[in-house]
Amino acid sequence: MTARKATTRRTTAKAPPKCQVCKGTGEVAVPVKVGRKQRITDDQQVGMCLTCFGSGEA
Ligand SMILES: [Zn+2]
Repeated sequence: MTARKATTRRTTAKAPPKCQVCKGTGEVAVPVKVGRKQRITDDQQVGMCLTCFGSGEA
C-alpha cells in the first residue's frame, strides 16, 4: 500500500498576523463628527480599518 503523505500540520502556526489596530476584525470604531466644526460627539460608528483596509490582517 502506498503510504499516505504525512498530513502537514496546519495549526495556528501559519495563521496570518492580525492587524494590531482592529485586532483582526477589519473594523474600527470611529467617532462621529457633526456640524460645520466637525465636533466629535459621544457616538461612535463602525468604520473600515485603514491600516489593513478591512481585511483584518497585518
Ligand atoms: Zn485593521
